[in-house]
Amino acid sequence: MKRQICGYDKDDRGDWIARLDCGHGQHVRHKPPFTNRPWVETADGRAGKLGAELDCVRCDRFEFPEDLTSYRRTPDFDETSIPAGLLKDHSTKTGTWGLIRVQSGELQYTAGEQ
Ligand SMILES: [Zn+2]
Repeated sequence: MKRQICGYDKDDRGDWIARLDCGHGQHVRHKPPFTNRPWVETADGRAGKLGAELDCVRCDRFEFPEDLTSYRRTPDFDETSIPAGLLKDHSTKTGTWGLIRVQSGELQYTAGEQ
């Protein structure tokens, strides 16, 4: 899934990690000849890539970011009390994740990129 670079961090070894707008991080190393990203070596180069898109395989696998925190919880609902908006196509804000806990029965849920 394509996600935008919104910032950078360094790991313990000094390698650059792009922070993506989904909340995941992705190494953006410059290790020629196999990985060629000379832009990551300079502040101007990194700044120039803000907003650029990278494929986020962790989003493709529906993995939650490590530092996720809860900010809201819906009341429990069932098939008769589910909010109508959840039955239609909808999405969460960028960087926001949803967790569905099925307490009994089963749920048919389809997720995909828009
Ligand atoms: Zn992601």
